[in-house]
Amino acid sequence: MEVPNCNTMSSKPSVVYYGSIQHGNPGRFASFSQKVDEVVKKLDFSTIEKKDKVAVKMHLGFNDGYQTIPVFFVRRIVKAVKDAGGYPYVTDNPTAVYNAVNRGYTSETCGCPILPTAGVKDGYTYKTKIKYKNVDSLELVGSLHDADVLIDLSHVKGHNSCGYGGAIKNIALGGFHGPSRWRKFHAIHESFKYWDAEKCTPEHAKKLVKSCPKKCLNYDEEKHKLTFAFDMCNQCMECLEVDTDIGCMKIRPEYFYAFQELMAIGAKAVLDTFDENKVFFINFLIDITALCDCWGIAQPHVINDIGVLGSRDIVAIEAASLDLVAKAGLIESMIPLFIKPNLDPEIDLHPFARLFGPMKNPYLVLDYAEKLGMGSKEYKLVELLSAKKTMKMKTPKSAFETEPSFF
Ligand code: SF4
Repeated sequence: MEVPNCNTMSSKPSVVYYGSIQHGNPGRFASFSQKVDEVVKKLDFSTIEKKDKVAVKMHLGFNDGYQTIPVFFVRRIVKAVKDAGGYPYVTDNPTAVYNAVNRGYTSETCGCPILPTAGVKDGYTYKTKIKYKNVDSLELVGSLHDADVLIDLSHVKGHNSCGYGGAIKNIALGGFHGPSRWRKFHAIHESFKYWDAEKCTPEHAKKLVKSCPKKCLNYDEEKHKLTFAFDMCNQCMECLEVDTDIGCMKIRPEYFYAFQELMAIGAKAVLDTFDENKVFFINFLIDITALCDCWGIAQPHVINDIGVLGSRDIVAIEAASLDLVAKAGLIESMIPLFIKPNLDPEIDLHPFARLFGPMKNPYLVLDYAEKLGMGSKEYKLVELLSAKKTMKMKTPKSAFETEPSFF
């Protein structure tokens, strides 16, 4: 297996527009919502042609997982698409769509229809050949396949399988139907022989199970089968200490890297169905939770709000997002206790790798994506309406709700 080089830089920097959450001038023109509009303006929707079908791929959350992109912003982005002449629709997996109303997303609030990515039974898909480890195909969802334009609208957060969930994850896992996600992406580690049944007695297997503080190991005595929930493993290596004399367990970096490589491959398969001038990436770095929106739980944010990014380059926007998260750092008091992070200041880790382990380095997917020609990790961050600049500008007369103006 080729170990990716996280420092590899390609030659061409891509522009990433940035609107910081930090407010300078008190005027409305300098507020975060106006910065979102500015980022969208700079992204330039003029390549959207009249009547283009525009998929706004989002994660709409699940159950109590309400920390997704506020509909307030979705509505503005949808309006910008309509102003450009496109026919937008918000799209996500059927369950998220069906109960999206619980989290405030409806056709009325978003300003456009909300459609399940692969139909109501998650079966409207296109088979995509993928030759990677134990995966030979993935089922690409119809709502993205059939669209003329993609707006990859992502909520930035941590992810227990790969460290980070942003623009790539939104279309990699979100771009394929449920069985592809759960039985292929999330089972990629099964391509590796992490446990040797012949070397392991049932008694030893039970000791291994007991050794794992994250409860990642499970043993079926009848089948003499040890399974490993790699999604939850934070590579603490306590199981390997118990296994020193027997040597039947392996925890190797490539088990974790494979998930990231498959994500890059999946995202590329989705992007390949679009004209490159008709894909737009917008990342919201607010309400940054430790776990993915699909956990269905209300979570504390573990990173302070940062802002919004927009780019035509998926690799660049992800690199900028991760760098900004690294600069912000973790709010340690907000980390859920069950996560068991590595907070050792002597060890240099990205905040998301502190949460999910060093082998879930969130930058890896960018190396794979860059090698697949999906974009460049080298980027130029262009801040719009920065707090420092707007502080020097004249403050307009404020509009207050002193009377029922109905504006
Ligand atoms: S390395 Fe993973 S499987 Fe082993 S004990 Fe730690 S969390 Fe559990």
